[in-house]
Amino acid sequence: MEINSPVFIVEKGYDGLSLGEEEHKMGIKGSSTRQVFFMDCKVPVENVLGEIGKGHLIAFNILNIGRAKLAAAALGGSKQVATQSVEYANTREQFKLPIAKFGAIKHKLAEQAIRIYAIESAIYRVSNLIENKEQELMATGMSFEKALLGAAEEYAVECAILKVAGSEVLDFVVDEGVQIYGGYGYSADFPMDRAYRDSRINRIFEGTNEINRLLAVDMILKREMKGELDLMGPAMAVQKELMAIPDFSNGESKLFDDENKAIANMKKCILMVAGTAVQKYMMTLAKEQEILMRIADMAIDTYMAESILLRVQKLVGIRGEAGSALEIDMARVYLFDALDRLNVSGKNAINAMSEGDEQRMLQMGLKRFSKMTPVNTIEARRRIAKKLIEENKYCF
Ligand SMILES: Cc1cc2nc3c(=O)[nH]c(=O)nc-3n(C[C@H](O)[C@H](O)[C@H](O)COP(=O)(O)OP(=O)(O)OC[C@H]3O[C@@H](n4cnc5c(N)ncnc54)[C@H](O)[C@@H]3O)c2cc1C
Repeated sequence: MEINSPVFIVEKGYDGLSLGEEEHKMGIKGSSTRQVFFMDCKVPVENVLGEIGKGHLIAFNILNIGRAKLAAAALGGSKQVATQSVEYANTREQFKLPIAKFGAIKHKLAEQAIRIYAIESAIYRVSNLIENKEQELMATGMSFEKALLGAAEEYAVECAILKVAGSEVLDFVVDEGVQIYGGYGYSADFPMDRAYRDSRINRIFEGTNEINRLLAVDMILKREMKGELDLMGPAMAVQKELMAIPDFSNGESKLFDDENKAIANMKKCILMVAGTAVQKYMMTLAKEQEILMRIADMAIDTYMAESILLRVQKLVGIRGEAGSALEIDMARVYLFDALDRLNVSGKNAINAMSEGDEQRMLQMGLKRFSKMTPVNTIEARRRIAKKLIEENKYCF
């Protein structure tokens, strides 16, 4: 028997199956979609999968893997759209020139590539971490299934970061794809129309990006509370450093010294803001979602920037500096912009949770730790776009 939509179905099922009763009693209104709830359902012993009462652990862990995979799928879509964008920009003429010749379009093509390269770097990094952990667990005699779940659980925070970053890179790339196609971007006769809609769901399923942001920070804080991670020690060290005189020593600097220092400083910003939030709100921090979101954004920007930098440093080790020039450009541009985004996120959080001298000190620390040697991002993007335009495809 179906109670009229749009409420949950309330139906006494077969074999003791009771559908949606609790939800109905609670007055939960759902969509008109039919939903099935299994309550007190008898399952034959031979059909039991895993351990009774521990099914949610498997479900949650599957979500972890699903999130990493979603990012990889988004990466594939992004590359396809980036290729379509450059192909179109090379052929579409306005003012007697292919639109790919215009700086405004070069900027878009380059930024598509930079963000794709960054998320790809993060995906490689997390996949490698999960694989190594899986091997490590299997070496202790654990079965493959258990090792995979254990490894995914260990890197659940990273999986949540990948999910959010991957879906947002795809949305960015597709949105710029629509713009590059101009009016045709809006037409169902051209590929961007479908890409625009297909892309959008990725920020919603596998846990919405809001939930994944909250989850990422929550998991880190829980690990700190369980003593698995020391956040407060380093956070206190950053507070002390703020009181000390900054180090202006100007020794000989090697390639990537500035960038590696910037990443270390980004982490200090996170520790400063998250440490202040924990001290200020203690047990009620979960209610301060806007602050948690800003901390998550800082963590995501830092993880992505660090991933692209790690990959490019490795690449330089293989191909040399000259052979990796465009990838170095990509890492620097990404990092430079990520620092600004981190600064804005940090400022918003600090202003919400402090005032007076404390606020001034925190803002000063944020400014100090989110600085970097200037990068000519416009020239760097032009060089990246030139390569894409010559190759007529996404080529990194
Ligand atoms: C095409 C498609 C395919 C899908 N496939 C699957 C599938 O295979 N398996 C499956 O299980 N599900 C699937 N889903 C469901 C999907 O996972 C949910 O739509 C998604 O989790 C969001 O839940 P909701 O729609 O109830 O939105 P709501 O939970 O109502 O969220 C609405 C908004 O409120 C925000 N919000 C909700 N709770 C909080 C909170 N506590 N704090 C802050 N913000 C909050 C959300 O971020 C969102 O912005 C699919 C959905 C679609 C559209």
